[in-house]
Amino acid sequence: QPVLAVVGRPNVGKSTLVNRILGRREAVVQDTPGVTRDRVAYDAQWSGRRFTVVDTGGWEPSATGLQAAVAAQAELAMNTADAVLVVVDASVGATATDEAVAKVLRRSKRPVLLAANKVDDDRLLSDVASLWSLGLGEPHAVSALHGRSSGDLLDAIVKALPEAPREREAVAGPRRVALVGKPNVGKSSLLNKLTGEERSVVDSVAGTTVDPVDSLVELDGQVWRFVDTAGLRKRVHTASGTEYYASLRTKAAIDSSEVVIVLLDASEPLSEQDLRVLTSVVESGRACVLALNKWDLVDEDRRHQLEKELDRGLVRVTWAERVNISALTGRSVRKLAPALRTALASWDQRVPTGQLNAWLSELIAATPPPVRGGKQPKVLFATQAGIRPPTLVLFTTGFLEAGYRRFIERKFRERFGFEGSPVRINVRVRE
Ligand code: GDP
Repeated sequence: QPVLAVVGRPNVGKSTLVNRILGRREAVVQDTPGVTRDRVAYDAQWSGRRFTVVDTGGWEPSATGLQAAVAAQAELAMNTADAVLVVVDASVGATATDEAVAKVLRRSKRPVLLAANKVDDDRLLSDVASLWSLGLGEPHAVSALHGRSSGDLLDAIVKALPEAPREREAVAGPRRVALVGKPNVGKSSLLNKLTGEERSVVDSVAGTTVDPVDSLVELDGQVWRFVDTAGLRKRVHTASGTEYYASLRTKAAIDSSEVVIVLLDASEPLSEQDLRVLTSVVESGRACVLALNKWDLVDEDRRHQLEKELDRGLVRVTWAERVNISALTGRSVRKLAPALRTALASWDQRVPTGQLNAWLSELIAATPPPVRGGKQPKVLFATQAGIRPPTLVLFTTGFLEAGYRRFIERKFRERFGFEGSPVRINVRVRE
């Protein structure tokens, strides 16, 4: 979702105006010179358009001296956001600091809007006109305190912002599940168990009808669409032919699913083939449940061995729930539906921008990113840019190493959950 940065010197009413733009209770903390605000970014919405508002007053200025600091913030805002809103105090007029900010922003390649705040009564309108001299286009007269003309300003803002890229829509109807795993791991057996034996008998009698590619399965009071199961239901293993075709088929099933059940054979060591399946799932960004099948064959010794294998083999999917099942005896098969639901809820989850930044600024204050090349990268703010899979974007002034990104992901999961879903973290570096 597009980002609007709000800049201006202290006391022009930035925070009040940001609150106006947010139009609801997620209130911005008052401007206190010299004090870093704990939150800087928020979700806003106007005429059906969603965008992120960043209050640059919460950024720790890198330059010293008011004028240089505000100009530096404007510079950063211009390089980070999709549009910049400059706020000036119409009752004071353009100050030297406002001029310095305007000078920076006149170079901006992205749209810049000018808000003339504190126009609480019409007599100030002539002062507003004089702000054309800043060279930032039309000054929008507003009174953040009284709400005057904030609708017109918001219209201008959404017009200036780029359209958000469309998100993957939820496919209507039952949620889509892929059942994958190497040959003989027990996929057909599990599907038969889930659909009930009767159903497969009926299918084999009605052998002449064309098979639907997917199976609708009711689990725990909810109907699910198991995708691409035609081969599984008929127990046709020859169709898979070579491993190459089996892997293409696996990829296709994963691609048309929302959540994947990866079947692993608990009675055997993890194989290369298992790891390839897991890699496909991780790369797909789908939600995932790990089912350790053939648990009826697992004794005490094997269990200890298995723990060790899984700790090593499943490092990339530590977030996935593991269910120990037996497709043969039906053991714990009932636990699959709740696990699928949890995974999908995580896959669909969105953390509000205000909450995200309140958490993030605390985390970063306690454990700042490691210094690289003598420079301390700053994390300016973050938004959750998307769901399915949940994707965070961190806006920074420098590269964040992989170890630090993993640290952020781990802490993010500790705070917000997301069990069963991958979480992607993208970093956008702006100097
Ligand atoms: P697929 O190739 O993944 O579809 O695997 P199948 O469902 O055809 O199962 C392969 C073999 O494993 C069959 O002989 C099954 O009876 C057996 N099998 C499947 N699940 C279990 C299980 O939970 N326990 C045991 N002991 N055997 C199983």
